[in-house]
Amino acid sequence: MPVDAFALARSVGIPVCFGSIPHTDMQVIYVPRRLSYQRQQWLVAHELGHILLGRARMIDSEAGADLVALSLLLPRDPFLRDIYELGCVPERLASRHPACSHYVISRRIADLGVSSGLFAPVTVSAP
Ligand SMILES: [Zn+2]
Repeated sequence: MPVDAFALARSVGIPVCFGSIPHTDMQVIYVPRRLSYQRQQWLVAHELGHILLGRARMIDSEAGADLVALSLLLPRDPFLRDIYELGCVPERLASRHPACSHYVISRRIADLGVSSGLFAPVTVSAP
């Protein structure tokens, strides 16, 4: 099921507004309309990562916010099931995750330590 970063932000009480400059003041995430849909989704998930790390009193960093964003946009277990079914091919996986660019999908694959050789596309043939 595709994830919508805007809905995720709203679900934890963080409104997302459109603004000219991407930023967050820990109460609102501002997203430029000029960004593509996938860039907007990534930006919201990344900024939400900063906010959630802060709320959890964890060390906030760009790498940490990226990791939270990857986990939010591509939750581990459903994403691994998709990889098992479709193969470790970002172009195919993108059909199930329209909010994510091929780059984001590739990063999540690397983050999970999935080897493309372990997850070839599954083909089922009739007996
Ligand atoms: Zn950041």
